[in-house]
Amino acid sequence: MSSLKDKILSLERESGRLEPGPLERQEVRDAVVRYAEEFLNSISEIRAFNFSESNGIGLLSSPITPDGISIGEIIRLLEENVNDPGLNPASGGHLGYIPGGGIYSSSLGDYLADVFNRYAGVFYASPGAVRMENLLIRWMSEIVGYPPSASGNLTSGGSIANLIGLVTARDAKAIRSVDINKSVIYLSQQAHHSIDKAIRISGLGECALRSLPLDANYRIIPAELERLVLEDRSIGLNPFLVVASAGTTDVGAIDPLTEIGEIAKKYGLWYHVDAAYGGFFALTDEGKEKLRGMEMSDSIVIDPHKGLFLPYGSGIVLVKDIGALSNAHHYTANYMQDAASSAEEPSPAELSPELTKHFRGLRLWLPLKLHGVNPFKACLSEKLLLAKYFHEKVREIGFECPIEPELSVVVHRYVPTKGEVDQFNRRLLEEVVKDGRVFISSTVLDGNFMLRFACLAFRTHLDTVNMYLAVLKEKVKLLENEFRG
Ligand SMILES: *Cc1c(COP(=O)(O)O)cnc(C)c1O
Repeated sequence: MSSLKDKILSLERESGRLEPGPLERQEVRDAVVRYAEEFLNSISEIRAFNFSESNGIGLLSSPITPDGISIGEIIRLLEENVNDPGLNPASGGHLGYIPGGGIYSSSLGDYLADVFNRYAGVFYASPGAVRMENLLIRWMSEIVGYPPSASGNLTSGGSIANLIGLVTARDAKAIRSVDINKSVIYLSQQAHHSIDKAIRISGLGECALRSLPLDANYRIIPAELERLVLEDRSIGLNPFLVVASAGTTDVGAIDPLTEIGEIAKKYGLWYHVDAAYGGFFALTDEGKEKLRGMEMSDSIVIDPHKGLFLPYGSGIVLVKDIGALSNAHHYTANYMQDAASSAEEPSPAELSPELTKHFRGLRLWLPLKLHGVNPFKACLSEKLLLAKYFHEKVREIGFECPIEPELSVVVHRYVPTKGEVDQFNRRLLEEVVKDGRVFISSTVLDGNFMLRFACLAFRTHLDTVNMYLAVLKEKVKLLENEFRG
C-alpha cells in the first residue's frame, strides 16, 4: 500500500514540471515577451515575404523528446523555422489575398483566455464567458442591422462560419436526402471556394447548383436570378438557397444585396451573405451605404481576423432566427444533464458543431474595450481611401484597372510596349514577391492574368502604398528591358 503511495508521489514530483513556480514563469515569460518585442520593434523592416531554401526543415531535426529543451533554444527554432520563411502577415506590406491582422491587444486577450481557461461552450460552466460572446454577437448583429433576437457563433474563421450558415439553411428549408436532386442553390461564379466546400460537406453537393451570370463589375444580376428561379420552379424543382457576397475575394465586389433580398423573400429562399472580407466596412459611413441590404439576409458571415485586424482564428456567423440555428445544432446527452440550457443566455454548444472550444470572445472583447470602436473605424476608412489613392496613382504610371474598387481591392495589370501581356504580368508578380518589400497576389479575370492589391492589413499606410508604387515602377522598367530583348 505504501509503495502505491510512493509511486503516486514520485509521479506527482515529475509531473510538477508542468506547474512552474513564479521565478520559472518569469524566466520563460520574459524570454517570450523579449522575442515578441524584438519582432514588433522591427516590424517595419521585416520583409513581407521571404523565400527560404530550408522552408522550416530545421524543425524536423529537433523531434519531440522525453525531456524538454530550454526556452532559448525553442525561440531559436521558432525564429529560424517558423517566423522567417514565407509570408509575414503581420507586415503592413502584406497586400495579397485578403490580408490578416494581428493587433497586439488581441494576443493579450488570448493569453488571459488561456491562463484562466474558462469553459466558454456552456453557460452553466462559465456564464461570464458565454455572456461576453453573446454580447459580441449582439454588437455585430447591430452593425449588420439584424434584430436583437438574432444569434450566432464565434468561429475559428469564415469557412466554418459559412458551413454553419449552410447547414442552418439546409435544415430550415427541411432539405432531406431524398430531396437533394430536386433542390436548387444559386450562387455567383465569384463566390468564395469555402461556399463550395460547405455545400459538399453539408451533403448538398448533389443539389442543382446554378452559377449566376455577372455584370461588368462581377456582381450578380438580380433579374437573372429571378429568371432562373422561375424557370426551375416551372420544371418542378425546389429553389431553396441563394448565396451573395458582400465583398468578393477576387475584386471586392458587392452583389446587389437589397434586390437579391427581395427575390429571396418573394420566392421563399434562404438568403446567405458571405461578408467575411467586406462585413466590417459597415463600421464606416461609406461602407454602411454600400452594404445596405445585408440586413435582409437570413444568415451572414463576417471575419474579425480580416476586417477587425485580429490575429487568425476569428470568424463569425450570424443567424437572424435563433430557432433555425438551434434546430440545426442542438443536442442532448445524459452526461450533460446538469448543464441543460439556461433561459438567461443561449450557449455556444447549442448553436454550433463545437462543444469544448477556445474562449474566442476575449481576443475580440479586450481590444474593443481597450481601444473603443473609433480606431477600428478610422483604420477601415483609411483602407478604403488608400485603395482609391492606389487606383488613381497606378493608372498614372501606365497600369490598367478594369474596374473601380468598391472596397479595398484593386485589380491591375501592365500592358507592355512589347511582349505578351499575361506573361509580362506573371513575371512582374514574380519580381515583386521576390523583392519582398511588399507581397501581392494575382487572379484571372475573363481569362486575363491580373495583379491584386488588397489593402486590409492594419499596418498598411500611405508609405506602404507609395513603396508598392515605387516597386512597380522599378520592376516594370527592368522587365521592359528584358522583354525588349
Ligand atoms: C476569406 C474569405 C472566406 C474564408 O474565410 P476564412 O476565414 O479564410 O476561413 C470566405 N469568404 C470570403 C469572401 C473571404 O474573403
